[in-house]
Amino acid sequence: MPSVVQVNDLRKRYGEIEAVRGISFQVESGEVFGLLGPNGAGKTTTVEILEGLRKADGGSALVAGVNVFTDPSEVKRRIGVQLQASAFPENLTAKETVDFFATCYDLDVDALALLRLVELQERAGQRQEKLSGGQRQRLSIATALVNSPQILFLDEPTTGLDPQARRNLWDLIRGIKGRGTTVFLTTHYLDEAEILCDRVAIMDEGRIVALDPPRKLIDDLLARGFTKPVLQQQANLEDVFLDLTGHELRDT
Ligand code: ATP
Repeated sequence: MPSVVQVNDLRKRYGEIEAVRGISFQVESGEVFGLLGPNGAGKTTTVEILEGLRKADGGSALVAGVNVFTDPSEVKRRIGVQLQASAFPENLTAKETVDFFATCYDLDVDALALLRLVELQERAGQRQEKLSGGQRQRLSIATALVNSPQILFLDEPTTGLDPQARRNLWDLIRGIKGRGTTVFLTTHYLDEAEILCDRVAIMDEGRIVALDPPRKLIDDLLARGFTKPVLQQQANLEDVFLDLTGHELRDT
């Protein structure tokens, strides 16, 4: 299987700022790949270049087999990008929103099937303003899937969600991966990356400083002699919350 994303020596500068300093990596078909890093590391710049939204200064990038530099429009047709639900046209129901995006791609899709996939079939006729934060995120993922993309880009998908809604979204992302769609995730939540990602790239100051499965990165750290000063407790407040309120789907 060829890589879905192939990036080689990618560079981008904004005036004096070297936002991306010659990074190279590949995303394999079917994996959940995480791009992590502190604020200003260059993640958004990198992702927007891969989505065909921003021009790079050097290097090369192939996404879904298409050269991002020379054919950004074709890249956009082949990928799914989760938009913030606040960017959706107002006054549309969940089903109309999915239909609207399908029309933008000039596609005829089974909107209800997509809503079923994200467990929003019961909300098909409801306007977005009536949806919870978790439901809006799931709706935005449904819209990102209208063109059956080879790769789905998710930018901070669980920011602002409560623990149950986050876990529901994690299950959904696993389900999308289970259907064979590659997922490219950026997140600030390291627990999320550890649980969901097959491999993570850690970016800092425009460079990739590590790229491996999370478990390997942790094992390597331990092999270097790292120990935590305080033994981690066996449960935390989030575990209490979930134990008392349940793990099941509750943001519907
Ligand atoms: P965050 O997690 O805060 O979103 P990031 O890792 O996504 O950060 P980028 O947004 O790619 O990082 O920014 C990388 C660097 O490039 C930062 O120093 C940022 O200030 C700078 N930068 C980003 N976009 C622009 C722009 N349009 N013009 C000038 N500088 C920019």
